[in-house]
Amino acid sequence: MNTYSSISKGRIIADHGPVGGPLLLVTCLIHGNEPAGETAIRQVIEALEPAPSDHLRGRVVVLRGNLQAAANKSRYIEADLNRIFPTVVAPSIESTHMVSEFQERDELISLIERLAEEHPVEERYFVDLHTTSSETLPYLSLPSGNERLIKFARKFPLHIVSGFYRYVPGSIDRYLHEQGFTGFACEGGQHSRDAAVTSMTALFWMMLEETGCLAPGASIADRSSLDEAHAVLDGFVVGPPKVFEFTHRHALNGNEGFVMEPGFANFHEVKRDEIIARDNNGPIRAPTDGNLLMPLYQTSGNDGFFLVEERPASRGSE
Ligand SMILES: [Zn+2]
Repeated sequence: MNTYSSISKGRIIADHGPVGGPLLLVTCLIHGNEPAGETAIRQVIEALEPAPSDHLRGRVVVLRGNLQAAANKSRYIEADLNRIFPTVVAPSIESTHMVSEFQERDELISLIERLAEEHPVEERYFVDLHTTSSETLPYLSLPSGNERLIKFARKFPLHIVSGFYRYVPGSIDRYLHEQGFTGFACEGGQHSRDAAVTSMTALFWMMLEETGCLAPGASIADRSSLDEAHAVLDGFVVGPPKVFEFTHRHALNGNEGFVMEPGFANFHEVKRDEIIARDNNGPIRAPTDGNLLMPLYQTSGNDGFFLVEERPASRGSE
């Protein structure tokens, strides 16, 4: 474990492996009510102990995001931490110490800047772990139009959804991309489901392998964990994984009495004009055909639902 001064207790779960190789940065609990990512990470870290350096030829750093919200088991305290990172499209979000999330953000930024100084850009990898309020297959979230990132994400047998940045300018994954990290956000499953932990545990094992962080002569136990990880991830998506693009966001201001119709899960196919939610003005219909994403089944959030559609060339390439 490397040494850190004046960093909040509970921020750093792990800092294992040599500094000279690739870096895999894992962030979890950017939303405080999404503990499954942390549970998954701890399972892998435990499997690597008591001597993680024996298993690793790269460095693995795991950071917890919104510590105060996590203690409170809420998505955030005063501001959504995943909307306030400085990025080229939202450079002007200024810190105000009246809002607890800015303290969390500033500490994460100082740690990330330090990691970026210690590792060359071609060796910086990350995954940012989340879960959703609706039922979902696990999927990977990427910026739109970045073929290099899509190529990396296609190493993993999960659907890819690109273009969320259009709606969320200040997310930590966008910030990390702008700091030269290769990676993605992962929506691992529904908040309280065991499957969310299972999918993210498997994804973490595969990332250790694909980023070159796992030592080449990995132990038999590591090998069997990796085989299991491949089998687990292969089991989620029927047929070849697809690449989807965002086409629509239903934004909320919080006062419109928005309620989703029951029973919608992520990737659920909807038809144009189908009723998918209601608010004080009556039914809300799908503006186009598409697949539903992130239908809001919890009380806090600024997004009612999104629509995505499959990218025409996403089938079967690679
Ligand atoms: Zn989240």
